[in-house]
Amino acid sequence: MKPAPFDYYAPATMGEVLALLREHGDAAKLLAGGQSLVPMLNMRLARPGVLIDLNRVAGLTGIRQEGDTLVIGAMTRHAEVERSELVARLQPLLTEAIAQVGHIQIRNRGTIGGSLVHADPSAELPAVLAALGGSVRVAGPAGVREVAAEDLFLMFFTTSLQPDEVLTEVRLPVLPARTGWAFEEVARRHGDFAIVGVAVTLTVADQRATKADDLVITGCRIALTGVGMTPVRAAAAEALLVGRPPSQAMLAEAAAAFRAEIEPDTDIHATADFRRHLAGVLTERALGRALQRAAERGGGR
Ligand SMILES: Cc1cc2nc3c(=O)[nH]c(=O)nc-3n(C[C@H](O)[C@H](O)[C@H](O)COP(=O)(O)OP(=O)(O)OC[C@H]3O[C@@H](n4cnc5c(N)ncnc54)[C@H](O)[C@@H]3O)c2cc1C
Repeated sequence: MKPAPFDYYAPATMGEVLALLREHGDAAKLLAGGQSLVPMLNMRLARPGVLIDLNRVAGLTGIRQEGDTLVIGAMTRHAEVERSELVARLQPLLTEAIAQVGHIQIRNRGTIGGSLVHADPSAELPAVLAALGGSVRVAGPAGVREVAAEDLFLMFFTTSLQPDEVLTEVRLPVLPARTGWAFEEVARRHGDFAIVGVAVTLTVADQRATKADDLVITGCRIALTGVGMTPVRAAAAEALLVGRPPSQAMLAEAAAAFRAEIEPDTDIHATADFRRHLAGVLTERALGRALQRAAERGGGR
């Protein structure tokens, strides 16, 4: 199939991008890796009159550390993030999750910014951003603003970005000491979107008041994909775990609390009951792996 006709621009600077967005308004669409947009154009699910290609715009790629923050340019490809030693060291939850995005051909072209702005309710990266409490930087006519994960995703395929704004950077907190992580998902076939996926971080400390090697959970963040219109935080389960010594029974209790809390939809991929069941199983499994990693990591980073 072929897309409807459009005018194509390949600007070299962010200033030119913003000027084109101002000029063309709602008629314009930004093109990043094209892994979601191009199929939508070809199926004529999207019919923008103007396509603004971000691939030649300077300053939108790269991975760096800024103090306790890992900063990734919006146009950085999934594959580069997946292979980055800096990401693996500072935020291994992202390394684990991004490897599950589609197939390697998709990850060679797809970008971290495109995945977040596309906001597919089954995508891995929105759940990772939510679990980590990360944020994005957005450039627009009024300058640059920072948007926290909880304010970014509004509903299916919809973020709080305005049509004249561009996501420029993804900002993730560096994984704290004694913190474990895990990303788990179930998809029908390798490379498919997840039916349900879960991103977890879990922090432990020694409970010196009792025995020196007893642990207590001091922090826990859980976010799921595939169980709602946006990434869903498991707030009740997190609250159940924090402040208590970890045990397999407690992890199961927290997963059960989350299962009871959510109201997924039935669609062509899975029934609501199956999604709820998966959410419980995967949350318990991810918590178990995160706990093991937290216990093994000792005091250092
Ligand atoms: C076979 C197949 C399997 C896939 N499996 C998965 C999967 O398992 N998990 C998953 O998450 N994804 C999956 N995808 C989607 C893929 O990961 C896309 O790469 C991703 O969703 C979008 O990134 P992109 O860079 O290709 O963006 P594009 O397709 O270029 O753009 C997507 C949308 O984001 C907007 N946009 C892009 N960049 C910016 C920016 N910087 N600022 C503002 N707006 C922007 C575009 O205007 C467009 O609306 C799959 C795709 C295919 C074809």
